[in-house]
Amino acid sequence: MRKNGLVISIDGTAGTGKSTVGKLVARQLGYGFLSTGELYRALAYKVYEQHLPPEDGAQVLALSKRLQFTFVRQEDAVLKMYVDGEYLGAKLHLEETGNVASRVSTHQEARAVLTEKMRAAGQDGGIIMEGRDIGTVVFPDAEVKFYLSASAEERAKRRVKQLEETGECPDYQTILALIKERDYRDSHRAASPLKPAEGAIIIDTSSLTLEQVAQKVLAEIRRVDENK
Ligand code: C5P
Repeated sequence: MRKNGLVISIDGTAGTGKSTVGKLVARQLGYGFLSTGELYRALAYKVYEQHLPPEDGAQVLALSKRLQFTFVRQEDAVLKMYVDGEYLGAKLHLEETGNVASRVSTHQEARAVLTEKMRAAGQDGGIIMEGRDIGTVVFPDAEVKFYLSASAEERAKRRVKQLEETGECPDYQTILALIKERDYRDSHRAASPLKPAEGAIIIDTSSLTLEQVAQKVLAEIRRVDENK
């Protein structure tokens, strides 16, 4: 048993609702929540800021080693991330940062560096971690593992709606193409490709509300916890 409770992993492609669901469930359990894409996005942002080529594995690795990550748990369960003492906020969620993130995350050695930082943040338990390889690589010993999926079309619709809510006028076909491109890269890379972990509970979220997904996740966690 870990000091603060279970480690729960939620993996899956972008736009399946992993973050929303993870946060909802973490709040119910009184756990922390970490979206591990934030670490890849931070590395990507720094690569971009320093004009480094995302394909240059050696430079990306050297940079990953220099970055200092600190996490501070907020009232809404989220572990707020500071990089070298700075909160990068919205800069991490630009479409471009996500794209560079999926490029820098193909480098195995830089992944290993970030993976260690994720383990340090979660090893005492009491945490839900969301990402692409949490149940397969970061915490293969997580007590409960989930894998969320949804069709690319449904995810593109959700993303368009999200962007419209922030006042943007996104093009559905462009968003759909970006999602498919990112899925392909994430699931075909040699280093930790996206796939369900052994023993993961797979939930197709296409026709469910995120509230319904959260209820299912919570029920599964309670079932596992009771049977321990
Ligand atoms: O989840 P998010 O969209 O923030 O992740 C950004 C990118 O970071 C993903 O496209 C993926 O390439 C990478 N990532 C990863 N492993 C994780 C989390 C994110 O490779 N555990």
